[in-house]
Amino acid sequence: MKFKALKGIQDILPPETSGWQRIEAAAREIFKTYGFREIRLPVIESTEIFLRSIGETTDIVEKEMYTFTDKADRSVTLRPEGTAPFVRAFVEHHLFNEPPPQKFYYMGPMFRYERPQAGRQRQFHQIGVEALGVEDPKIDAEIISLLLLLLEKIGIKDAQCEVTSIGCVQCRPAFRAALKDFFKDRLGLFCDDCKRRYELNPLRILDCKVEACINGRQGAPSVIDFLCGDCTEHFNGVQYYLKLLSVPYTVNPGLVRGLDYYMRTAFEIKNYSLGAQNAVAAGGRYNGLVEEFGGPKIPGIGFAIGVERIVTLLTGLSDGHEGPDVFLCSLSSEAGEKTAVLAGQLRLEGLWVEISYDKSSLRSQMRRADRLRAKNVIVVGEDEMKSQTAVIKNMQDKTEISAALDAGEILRIIRGSK
Ligand code: ATP
Ligand code: MG
Repeated sequence: MKFKALKGIQDILPPETSGWQRIEAAAREIFKTYGFREIRLPVIESTEIFLRSIGETTDIVEKEMYTFTDKADRSVTLRPEGTAPFVRAFVEHHLFNEPPPQKFYYMGPMFRYERPQAGRQRQFHQIGVEALGVEDPKIDAEIISLLLLLLEKIGIKDAQCEVTSIGCVQCRPAFRAALKDFFKDRLGLFCDDCKRRYELNPLRILDCKVEACINGRQGAPSVIDFLCGDCTEHFNGVQYYLKLLSVPYTVNPGLVRGLDYYMRTAFEIKNYSLGAQNAVAAGGRYNGLVEEFGGPKIPGIGFAIGVERIVTLLTGLSDGHEGPDVFLCSLSSEAGEKTAVLAGQLRLEGLWVEISYDKSSLRSQMRRADRLRAKNVIVVGEDEMKSQTAVIKNMQDKTEISAALDAGEILRIIRGSK
């Protein structure tokens, strides 16, 4: 074969696409009830947008970004995530002037140059929400509860919700120092990446997926013990409201997000049947980000769902694409024109209609109808054109009903027989 999709980048084919449509439709429906509106953002941005916000010493920025120089020698990057571009747009279009909370959702492809493996593609898709302008922990709990409701609606079972607080600029330095202290004498046990992280971003060691590092960090200090008064109060508030909203969760102080803009609330939804790449969705609070992008001091919180990982959990479901409602066979060119017109009228009413395109025999047209699993077949030949009536053959119960060659009547009979 001459051409192939790039490594780690997948075509999404039917019938899987209908699973995607179902997920997207469920998301749109639920987001609407929470007052989230869709925002569509470019997939390519200035590189600086990601460097500053995600953090220069994170895996995404250090290793995973698709960064190029364009023809004008500008550095551009295919977005590795949605929040930084969102905040760029939020500030650029003064969306903060709308009454808070400002609530938006997005869906679309993200790009990370990762080693392709199960659950990790280089182009993958996220559905995410962002809610800005509210500091109160009530909204943190509401966002987490929305995420779980969506997963439930999609049909994801065993979604484990883990929550923590990762503190703020006030309390994080002390935690960072305690971590460094803890890791200092055992650094030999850790992978090369973690040795580097030790200097630059020791919190990231807590997120390393290498087994030696997972073992090496047993007994490390817990972020919860270092939270300042305000962060503790906020985290208590989040948990209070999670309980109020009957959201099942566990506190996992080992949870760290791979993006530096997060503070206080961080959460992940895991499904342990997925193996190593078990996070299906993740999010957190980002109170300083709007200001960093040149906007006013406005807090924010959001999450992103990894659509591929959700789809993996849904395999085996029927795609609902069962077969055409009606197949119109035609036995003359005049009949071919009539069926083409009828097909258009019936499709306008929402029926899935197939016609034949050549002068093939009735037998071969019937064979095609069969292969497509058509629910009804109408044969239009010279006699039918003369009488302007035809027989609607129901292929499931084998009944036959005579009908005028008229879209309204055909529709009525087919709808009635469904
Ligand atoms: P991980 O720890 O699995 O690398 P992450 O912290 O890099 O995840 P986020 O940036 O929080 O991921 O993205 C949110 C969700 O997007 C993840 O929980 C996951 O479901 C999905 N995701 C992230 N990277 C990929 C990828 N390369 N391929 C497929 N899905 C991904
Ligand atoms: Mg990652």
